[in-house]
Amino acid sequence: MGLIVQKFGGTSVGSIQRIGQVADKVARFRAEGHDVVVVVSAMSGETNRLIALAEEVQERPEPREMDVLISTGEQVTTALLSMALHKRGVKAKSYTGSQVRILTDDSHTKARIREIDNERLHAGLEAGFVLVVAGFQGVDEHGNITTLGRGGSDTTAVALAAALKADECQIYTDVDGVYTTDPRVVDGARRLDRITFEEMLEMASMGSKVLQIRAVEFAGKYQVPLRVLHSFEEGPGTLITLEDANQMETPTIAGIAFNRDEAKLTILGVPDMPGVAYKILGPIGEANIEVDVIVQNSADDNTTDFSFTVSRSDLARAKEVLQGVANEIKAREVRGDSKIAKVSVVGVGMRSHAGVASQMFGALAEVGINIQMITTSEIKISVIIEEKFLELAVRSLHSSFGLEREPKEEGTA
Ligand code: ADP
Ligand code: ASP
Ligand code: MG
Repeated sequence: MGLIVQKFGGTSVGSIQRIGQVADKVARFRAEGHDVVVVVSAMSGETNRLIALAEEVQERPEPREMDVLISTGEQVTTALLSMALHKRGVKAKSYTGSQVRILTDDSHTKARIREIDNERLHAGLEAGFVLVVAGFQGVDEHGNITTLGRGGSDTTAVALAAALKADECQIYTDVDGVYTTDPRVVDGARRLDRITFEEMLEMASMGSKVLQIRAVEFAGKYQVPLRVLHSFEEGPGTLITLEDANQMETPTIAGIAFNRDEAKLTILGVPDMPGVAYKILGPIGEANIEVDVIVQNSADDNTTDFSFTVSRSDLARAKEVLQGVANEIKAREVRGDSKIAKVSVVGVGMRSHAGVASQMFGALAEVGINIQMITTSEIKISVIIEEKFLELAVRSLHSSFGLEREPKEEGTA
């Protein structure tokens, strides 16, 4: 018996029937004597539907109004789930982010949680209620509704678990755990029993949307025991763990992540002199555009080609900014390419294994995929390739690193 925070994603609360199944599950945990806080997402498709409505009204709506709109989806599911619990004889109460008081900063549509007031929650739990909290939303210090970025209900759940010192935070979704890569792309993907926080953070940052990046950051920081499970199928799921070199046999590669939301900009024939990178990226930063991978290459004629990637939705604006820069520094040409993607191999085992990069490049060469850019960190190697080769690249790397194979038994190292 203990305190559990359970988060149910969009497809898990996507219909009245599913909400009923979630209520059955929560009721079972309650009957076993656990204190339960449930965090729900909006019904699947609802947040996208609301965003599309806003875009019909105005091209770039004010972020404050956007948050008032897109936070409504989660309010609906809290009430419906509470009703479903009442119908099953379980005491339950719904709460919006602002009723709990999940205090965030004021960065609308991508707010960060600052503080959670747990007084109300403790009182509710002590009175024997299941608390059903709206995911994805908070409130700033002036009482404005804020949201935490797409996939943000994961972060609400982990933050509540940290604030309440819950025994476990369970993320229920439409797959039965974290896989070596997206199981919807590679049939042979394998569920991982465990993955370290560090690896999960890289996987999430590199595009595996099974957990929101902030949720993983939070869980690592506050050491929240975190597990990803299937909403409606029994199973152990995946435990996100601290690295423990003595107990775990670490495979070199934990998984492969990929991201289609990338676009590449290249400025050609830039005079090769000090300060050029600053002249190019300074204005991009000022325009609030985040830069991801950067590559610069000098030619013999004292010029350099400078490439970097941005989020696809920023391509047009970045190109505009870059054109201005190109005129100013007398560069030859600016090119933009939105048909690229990023593939990353991730694993803490990389630290102690040489040759991962060459194995990766070899596997891609074997299937004729050209690498446009490369970037590495201690536990990750990413490449930028043409988007049309993305699935082929992920499948080839998955098999080259032997990720389909059954893992060796633990403790036999
Ligand atoms: P929810 O609505 O429950 O939050 P999401 O769609 O946000 O669910 O996340 C679950 C999805 O994440 C899965 O359906 C799967 O396609 C995708 N996914 C991407 N990478 C992975 C991975 N490595 N392991 C498991 N699922 C992954
Ligand atoms: N409903 C929000 C979204 O679709 C938050 C979430 O589901 O986690 O992004
Ligand atoms: Mg999600």
